[in-house]
Amino acid sequence: MKPWADRSPADAKPSSDTDPLDELVRVSQLLGSQRDLVLHGGGNTSYKGSVQDVFGDERDALFVKGSGINLATIDAAGFAVADLEMVRRLLSLDELSDFQMVNELRRSLLDVSGPNPSLETILHAFLPHRFVIHTHADAFLAVSDTADGDAILRELFGDSAVLVDYRRPGLPLALACVQAWETQFNDQTSVLFLKHHGVFTFGDTAEEAYGRMFDAVGTLEDKIASASGGAVGAASPAKELTDPDPVQLARLRAQVSNAAGQAMIMTRVADAEVAGFVSRPDLQALTAQGPATPDHVIRTKASPMVGRDVASFGSAYKDYFDSHSAKQDADLVMLDPAPRVVLDPDWGLLGIGESYAAAKISSDIYRQTIDCVNGAEALGGFRPLGVESQFEIEYWALEQAKLALAEPSRGLTGQVAIVTGAASGIGRACAQALLDDGAAVCGIDLSADVSTTFEHPTWLGVQANVTDREQMRSAIAQTVERFGGIDIVVIAAGIFGQSAPIADLPVEDWRKVLSINVDSVFEFFQDLHPVLAASPVSASVVMIASKNVPAPGKGAAAYSTSKAALVQLSRVAALEWADDGIRINMVHPDAVFDTGLWTPELLAERAQKYGLSIDEYKRRNLLSTEVKAASVGALVLDMCGPGFVATTGSQVPIDGGSDRVI
Ligand code: ZN
Repeated sequence: MKPWADRSPADAKPSSDTDPLDELVRVSQLLGSQRDLVLHGGGNTSYKGSVQDVFGDERDALFVKGSGINLATIDAAGFAVADLEMVRRLLSLDELSDFQMVNELRRSLLDVSGPNPSLETILHAFLPHRFVIHTHADAFLAVSDTADGDAILRELFGDSAVLVDYRRPGLPLALACVQAWETQFNDQTSVLFLKHHGVFTFGDTAEEAYGRMFDAVGTLEDKIASASGGAVGAASPAKELTDPDPVQLARLRAQVSNAAGQAMIMTRVADAEVAGFVSRPDLQALTAQGPATPDHVIRTKASPMVGRDVASFGSAYKDYFDSHSAKQDADLVMLDPAPRVVLDPDWGLLGIGESYAAAKISSDIYRQTIDCVNGAEALGGFRPLGVESQFEIEYWALEQAKLALAEPSRGLTGQVAIVTGAASGIGRACAQALLDDGAAVCGIDLSADVSTTFEHPTWLGVQANVTDREQMRSAIAQTVERFGGIDIVVIAAGIFGQSAPIADLPVEDWRKVLSINVDSVFEFFQDLHPVLAASPVSASVVMIASKNVPAPGKGAAAYSTSKAALVQLSRVAALEWADDGIRINMVHPDAVFDTGLWTPELLAERAQKYGLSIDEYKRRNLLSTEVKAASVGALVLDMCGPGFVATTGSQVPIDGGSDRVI
C-alpha cells in the first residue's frame, strides 16, 4: 500500500473555464489511475446539474458513472444523465427488487443514448452535495476488515465521519445511508464510510470532494503504516519462490479448466510481497475467511485455493453452494466450482479467468487484497465480512449480468497459441488471425521487433533463435507463466536458403537450411509435447510447409528437402500424439508475395523473366487469384477450430490451384 505520493488535491483543481462534466471526468480518471483506490470498474462519481428538455424547461439532472465503465478511461459519454428528482423519489419506497431498480434507473435517463446508471446511483442522488466520489480504497478495507474497525475509524475521524453498516448496493444500502446520515450528520461531516465496502466524499467542487478523499485515505494509510512499523506490504522474510515446471503448471491449468467446463487462462504473479504472503503458516485459515470486500467475490470466489488440490476445492465449493442456496428463496444454479485465485507456497499467486483480461483482473484484485490483509493483520487481525454476504453478492443476479455484459466470449478465447516466425509474413498473419479470434498468443521471432509486432493485451512477443534450444525452452516457460499452458502451435519460422543447383550448393548452406527448418522443429516438438498433452482442449499443431513438397522445383534442394522432412516429421507426430488428443495438420502455401521476402524489385525481375506483368505474375495459378498471407492465416485458424476437430495428418494446399499439385 503506497501513499499518494505522486498525486495531490492540486491535480484536481479545475482550470478557470472548465465545465462541471469536464471537471468530473478529470477527477474520475485521476481516481481511476490509483490502483489502491479503485480497480477494474470499481468506484463511481457524480455531479448534480441541470439539462434543458425539448420544452425549454430546466430539469435537475444527476450525471453519474455508467454501470461497468472503468473510471481510469471514462469520458463524458461514460456518464448517465438521470432525472434527479425521479431517482430521489425511489427513496420513498420500502422495497425495490434489483430488476425493478435497474428498470427505474433506466427509465430515469434524460438522455437514453447513455449507459445504464451505476448500481450505487440512488446513494449519489441522496447525498446533497454537488460532487460525490466513491472509492474502494485498500487502506479503508484494511481498517474496516478488523475486529476494532469501528473504533479505529472513530478514533481517527471522530464525528466527521458517518459510518454505515454493510448492505448490498441498491435501495437497501441507500436507505441504510439515509438512516445513518440522519443520526450522524453534523457541521463537521466530511466522509461517509460504508463498512467492508468503501468511502464516499463530497463537496461543492470536484476538487473539494477529491481533497477530502485524499485526506481520509491518507489518514488511514498513516494509521496502518504506524501500526506495522512503517513497513506495510514490505516483504516479510520469506523463502524464495521456485520457478514452476511448465508441464506441472499446464497440468494444473488443465484441471482448473476441466472444473470450469472450458479452457481457462491462468497467469502468475511472483513478486516479493506475494512470496512473503504465501509463506505465512496461517495462509489457509487467514484467506478462507473471504475477500476484502464482498464485491470481489465475483472475480476471486469467496476464497482462494491454497495449494493445488482442485478436486478438494471443487467439493468444498459445492458444499458452500448447497448450504447457502438452501436458505435463499430463488432457485439458484451453481456457478462452476473452479478457483479464480491460487495461492501456492512454492509458486506464488495465480489469477484465473475465462480470458486473459479476466485472469488479470482476478490476479490484480488478489494482489491488492494481499496489501489489505497485511494492513488488517497489523491492526489486530483480518476479519472480513461473513460468508453469508459473500454468497449473496456472488449469486446476485445483477453482478452476474454485469459479468456477462463485460466479456462476450469469442472463438478461441481461453486458448493459448505459440507461433514461430511471428514478426513478419505468414507467421505474423497467423498470429493476427489467432489474436482476432480471441486466443492469447506468444509470438517467437529472431527479430527484436517481435515484442511490439502487436499492441494487444494478449500478445507476448519473445525474441529467440529457433536453433537455440534453451531460448526456445524459455519461450515455452514464459508462455505458460503468462497464460497457463499451450493449446495451439504454428510453425512458420524458416529460411529459403540460396538458390543453386545441387552441384553448386555449398554443404554449409544445405546444413544451415536443414538445421533451421527441421532440426529446430524436432527439438521444439520434444519440449512442447508434454505441455500440449496437458491442454484441456483438443490441442492443434499447424505446420507451414510448402508447395515445394508435392511439386518441387529446380535450384531449391535444401528448402524442398527440409519442408518434405517437416511434413514427414509432422505425419509421424500425428500418429504418435493422437492418443494425447493432439492434431497435426499441414498447409502448403505457394507464391505468397505480401511477405518481407518479396521486394518490389524481386517481383519485377521475376515477372519480367516470365514475360508477365507483376499482377499477372502474382496470379499465375489456376484460379487466377493472389494468395495472401492473411488467407494462409485464415486457413491456419480454421485448422485450429471446430472444422478440423476430427482431422489430423492432413495436408492442404493454398496456392490458387496448381496442376502439378492437383
Ligand atoms: Zn462501491
